[in-house]
Amino acid sequence: MTVAERALAALDETALVTLTQELVRLRSINPPGDEAAVAAYIAERLQRAGLFAEVVPHPEAGRASVVGGLRGRGNRPALLLSGHLDTVPAGESWQRPPLAAEVDDGKLWGLGSSDMKAGVAAMLVALEAIQRSGATLQGDLLFAGTAGEEVDSMGAKQLVAQQKLGRVGFVIIGEPTANQVYTAEKGVLWLELRTHGRTAHGSMPHLGVNAILHMLTLLQALRALEVPYQRHPLLGDFTLNVATIHGGVKTNVVPDACAATVDLRTVIGQDHQQILDQVRQLIDRLCAEDATFQAEVRVLTERVPLDIPVDDPHVQAFIRVRDAVTGQPTVPRAATYATDGSVYVPAYRIPMVICGPGLPEKAHQPDEYVEIAKIVEAARIYTLAALELLA
Ligand SMILES: [Zn+2]
Repeated sequence: MTVAERALAALDETALVTLTQELVRLRSINPPGDEAAVAAYIAERLQRAGLFAEVVPHPEAGRASVVGGLRGRGNRPALLLSGHLDTVPAGESWQRPPLAAEVDDGKLWGLGSSDMKAGVAAMLVALEAIQRSGATLQGDLLFAGTAGEEVDSMGAKQLVAQQKLGRVGFVIIGEPTANQVYTAEKGVLWLELRTHGRTAHGSMPHLGVNAILHMLTLLQALRALEVPYQRHPLLGDFTLNVATIHGGVKTNVVPDACAATVDLRTVIGQDHQQILDQVRQLIDRLCAEDATFQAEVRVLTERVPLDIPVDDPHVQAFIRVRDAVTGQPTVPRAATYATDGSVYVPAYRIPMVICGPGLPEKAHQPDEYVEIAKIVEAARIYTLAALELLA
């Protein structure tokens, strides 16, 4: 038996399904996050399997990430398998209980099943299988279970800032791609806009300054703003979505404050600072046109867009393994959302791929599920890719 055969033989499919169920049942809805219980569960499991693991607490109560893995003997930089521990909140229209992790018809149902506790489970089981195979790795094989990915990648940022991962050479992100290979992801720029006015009795609006009407003016001008970009072959177009708006206190009062948030998704070549400057110039123009106009903008969160060269040797090695396991040739794709890759790739100047068992169309959806065959397939991909990349 080769090492790869021994590792595949050590992959326990029943344990993989059970682990995915356990992770779904550990509630980690963000906000507020509550990832600490999942992080502790994973650390304990890795340690029981003879791997090293460390829970990394975050300043907010109940929040933690986890790092663990297998030490290599050689001098290669580490391979990082990364997945987030948090989920989005369950919407209103679930038919199934979101935290029960029911298994039925080859599927596992639950909040965060596709996005992305199945990916986390497949990574952990792959690590355990490699440990049991007795393989000698030429670099560390690491797992990072991160808090806060669904909001601002707070967990990945802290792992990098506290140097918990050492020297990383390549990262595999297990976000839901149905085991397709994504090599690019869009950037994110979330802006908060605030307009200010002056209250007056609602029967005498001419005595006040209406902050909501100012916000409408600002949002319309923003939507008409020509933000320069070049359409990207994988990432497509730059987009802008007006996401939230809050303003006013009572129906008979002229509102003196209004706040809105805007979600911009950027492509390669766009500079977030330049976009911000454009918005500031727009506000200056509106102020010049109307002496009562008062507004400001601030950045809530931002993540850079990524486009990893597909001919990178790590990416090529991963694709060879993935294609052999799935029997399908890879057509590189892109994520329209951001991942923890937007933290790791610039920090370590490394390539990455996004590949995970969840179904992308089920992420953030009611009655989210993952196909069990895809979880098993992902665990096989991670196992063989780790052996190949750390050989
Ligand atoms: Zn996700």
